[in-house]
Amino acid sequence: MRMRLLSLAVLASSLGLGIVGCGAGSSAPSSSPASKSATAKADAHDHSGWWCNEHGIPEEECSMCSPKVAKAFRDKGDWCDKHDRAKSQCFVCDPSLKEKFAAKYRAKYGEEPPPIEN
Ligand SMILES: [Zn+2]
Ligand SMILES: [Zn+2]
Repeated sequence: MRMRLLSLAVLASSLGLGIVGCGAGSSAPSSSPASKSATAKADAHDHSGWWCNEHGIPEEECSMCSPKVAKAFRDKGDWCDKHDRAKSQCFVCDPSLKEKFAAKYRAKYGEEPPPIEN
């Protein structure tokens, strides 16, 4: 009786060892999560998404980027056919409009908007 218990224990422990050994063998070196160096507050000022750098207009108002916005302006009759954008956003026809939008940027961020890309 005692012997049998003992052998069972041995069996169990050897099984356990076998499982452990198997697991250890199959699992590759656990990939440690790539510790991304927490991006500092350098990018806290990210305004991409609000401001259209390309056109110098808030993105959601940009008739050159959003067909939906463009349509709304067209429907209002606010459209520059020559430059294919809202008349009220056509800096080509009226350079002073640029300032109008720049003022919005300044109001929000307290600094000059980035130069318009061409
Ligand atoms: Zn745009
Ligand atoms: Zn124009």
